[in-house]
Amino acid sequence: MRETKPLLVIGAGIAGITAALEAAEAGAKVVLVESEPSVGGRVLRVHNYFPKMCPPTCGMEINTRRLEKNPRIRVLTSSKVASAEQTEGGWKVTIASAPAFVNDKCTACGDCEKVCTTEVDDPFNLGMKKVKAIRLPHLTAWPKRFVFDRAACADDEAKKIAEACTYGAIDLDAAETSESLEFGSVVVATGWQPYPLEKLDELGGGLPDVIANVQMERLASVAGPTEGKILKPSNGEPPTKVAFVQCAGSRDVNHLNYCSGVCCLASLKQAIYVNEQLPEAEVTMYYIDRRAPGRNEDVLLRVAELEGVKLMKGKVGRVEQTDTGLKLRVEDVENEKLIDAEADLVVLATGMRPNALEDDLALFTRKDDDGFVLDDDEAGVTVAGVARRPEDVAASVRDATGAAARALVAAGRRA
Ligand SMILES: Cc1cc2nc3c(=O)[nH]c(=O)nc-3n(C[C@H](O)[C@H](O)[C@H](O)COP(=O)(O)OP(=O)(O)OC[C@H]3O[C@@H](n4cnc5c(N)ncnc54)[C@H](O)[C@@H]3O)c2cc1C
Repeated sequence: MRETKPLLVIGAGIAGITAALEAAEAGAKVVLVESEPSVGGRVLRVHNYFPKMCPPTCGMEINTRRLEKNPRIRVLTSSKVASAEQTEGGWKVTIASAPAFVNDKCTACGDCEKVCTTEVDDPFNLGMKKVKAIRLPHLTAWPKRFVFDRAACADDEAKKIAEACTYGAIDLDAAETSESLEFGSVVVATGWQPYPLEKLDELGGGLPDVIANVQMERLASVAGPTEGKILKPSNGEPPTKVAFVQCAGSRDVNHLNYCSGVCCLASLKQAIYVNEQLPEAEVTMYYIDRRAPGRNEDVLLRVAELEGVKLMKGKVGRVEQTDTGLKLRVEDVENEKLIDAEADLVVLATGMRPNALEDDLALFTRKDDDGFVLDDDEAGVTVAGVARRPEDVAASVRDATGAAARALVAAGRRA
């Protein structure tokens, strides 16, 4: 292969990791930039993957081993593109890295965590749990290195924490660093964030027992706030009537204009979580359309047969707190009437909003009206995963392989 400038991949979720690995394994040099302290993105916050219903950690571990072994990939975590400028041969990019209060001497032994008393909201568990200010971001974090929320700790405590580290891995004076690099082409894989519950007050967003689908994933996970028990946030009791509300804010001009493509499958999967753990609970999924294309239909067929799970064609217009629980106002489409239904836990199937929506990075040369990034062959920018459009993991991986190939071609053209 002709020697080209390295490729820049922005975002180390499943799409970015795949694109980086495929390009590097084809011989290119790659810099993979991730804003969080560890790689993996949103899929690591999922309890089990559809369609196979296996935990995401096994697949991700294979990927991190491939990353570790490949000398052509440089991974920069806690880092972001600060500025970018198009050049004749590609892109000149400045990458800023957050202060490394914990450096790569860290062995993740945990001595620092033992002396730390300050607790903060756990970002990995979407703020549903408290964790120490110094900690491993999550059990399978890669790189396996602690992170330190330095701003949360008083100077005295921070000093004690640093002294507890016998490897000299904690640097309280660390500062932000930056470097400028030249790239032949760029893959954007910046992914998504959940549509905020607080914007869905008509559907009960903000009520204690109205949660988002992403929160249900954490409730079902042993590494989550309830150690895997599906419990109502209001009182810690198991729910008896669970309602899944589909298209919560999606396909709605007031919220997200589009279908996120995965929410039906996510709720069907979560109905299985509830049914397996709480077989006595009544589960109803209220949907406009049930979208389960391809082999994902197997999940739909499996759920349709479960005792205690009902799939009802109905649009939920309102969710309210009552003295006894939650009341749902539903348009029962098949019987053409409005009905009131009850539940004690409501799961809103909120959609995926592109992270690039509010980001005005010069590299995002083309975006659609919803904030998804579009390929720009002339600029040498290709897009992978949910940064391009809402899709599941299998589609994101396929997309990333294509993006890696297009990025290699673009870099080759500029060499
Ligand atoms: C409730 C729910 C359940 C789901 N369950 C499943 C399932 O069971 N099976 C399935 O196939 N799919 C599932 N999905 C879909 C799945 O989560 C996505 O397909 C997947 O996350 C796409 O990966 P990605 O790499 O494109 O994006 P992400 O996972 O969002 O990764 C993007 C990465 O980019 C980083 N990043 C963002 N901005 C920047 C920046 N400016 N600079 C550097 N880094 C940046 C982020 O920190 C992140 O690490 C589910 C989705 C939802 C909402």
